[in-house]
Amino acid sequence: MKIAFFSTQPYDREFFNQANQDERFAYQFYETHLGPHIVEAVNDVDAVCVFVNDRVNREVMEVLASRGVKIVALRCAGFNNVDLDAARAYGISVCRVPAYSPEAVAEHAMAMLLTLNRKTHKAYNRVREQNFSLNGLLGFNLYGKTIGVVGTGKIGKAFCRIAKGFGCELLAFDIYEDPQLKEMGVSYVGMEELYKASDIISLHCPLVPENKHMVNRETIQQMKDGVVLLNTSRGALIHTDAVIDGLKKRKIGGLALDVYEQEEKLFFKDLSGAIIEDDTIQRLMSFPNVLITAHQAFFTKEALTQIASTTVRNIEELLSNQVLSNQQALVV
Ligand code: NAD
Repeated sequence: MKIAFFSTQPYDREFFNQANQDERFAYQFYETHLGPHIVEAVNDVDAVCVFVNDRVNREVMEVLASRGVKIVALRCAGFNNVDLDAARAYGISVCRVPAYSPEAVAEHAMAMLLTLNRKTHKAYNRVREQNFSLNGLLGFNLYGKTIGVVGTGKIGKAFCRIAKGFGCELLAFDIYEDPQLKEMGVSYVGMEELYKASDIISLHCPLVPENKHMVNRETIQQMKDGVVLLNTSRGALIHTDAVIDGLKKRKIGGLALDVYEQEEKLFFKDLSGAIIEDDTIQRLMSFPNVLITAHQAFFTKEALTQIASTTVRNIEELLSNQVLSNQQALVV
């Protein structure tokens, strides 16, 4: 069984090699994204394994099918970057890793909130420079604050549990209400109410056409003055220019992003010596109350181990009997 991996980093190779100690798979690792520019080079593999910023559109699907590729295996949960209609049309199966340590992402969201609020990233640098002043480091208590959680699936639910531990009031919006969360005291409300009443809003819903740019000029207006926004889900849930405007007007009091709409050209790369041409991220980074991490919320040993083992199992099961033991892992 032959798999070509795209967008790989050294840690991907390490964890996927661990999941293949008996060498039943032949791997090809590529650093480049999969997209129309490179798909013609795919040859003699049963499956391609892709990540969040690979672009598997119709054009790519067509070439993959012509090269005999049977599976597009996502080594992530979201699949907004794959053209599913094209996959069906060309008879290619698409699988994913529906759950890999949701706590990894939820804990990172809370880490970002704590950092942004208590400014530990600034304090760290300050103290190393022998500056022991506290001016400018003032935060607020999380205890008693209202957090609005959008999407209470696996990650949103884990985030609710953590926030509950801090003594926060929790409002939530989801298409499905989780009875366990309701028992825990989480109140499901409409989006308008969530925007109006939340001191902090954390996004944990998938990106679908209906919620693209759900955080926009109009919805920001509905939010509390000084609201803190957390996005560890997908960049395009937020209209970035509208958020920049909200920050400039002091309507938004803090912004923590682990994902960014134009992340494809930036994230997972060391660009420390390069000129960044994306003015929007440069503007975002210029605000003292914006914290950005480069799509690292999933990045724990536990999550990478599970991603690798689930991905190779998905491919193995699909190639051998077309059926997946975990039905949620099958997208198409
Ligand atoms: P999940 O499928 O368990 O939960 C998603 C929840 O969102 C479900 O309860 C669903 O009903 C709800 N939902 C769907 N559409 C909605 C909408 N329009 N409004 C509100 N809620 C809606 O998924 P999960 O494992 O919790 O992951 C959530 C998202 O987190 C993924 O789709 C992915 O985009 C993102 N993610 C990010 C990272 C990272 O490293 N930053 C890692 C993994 C996942």
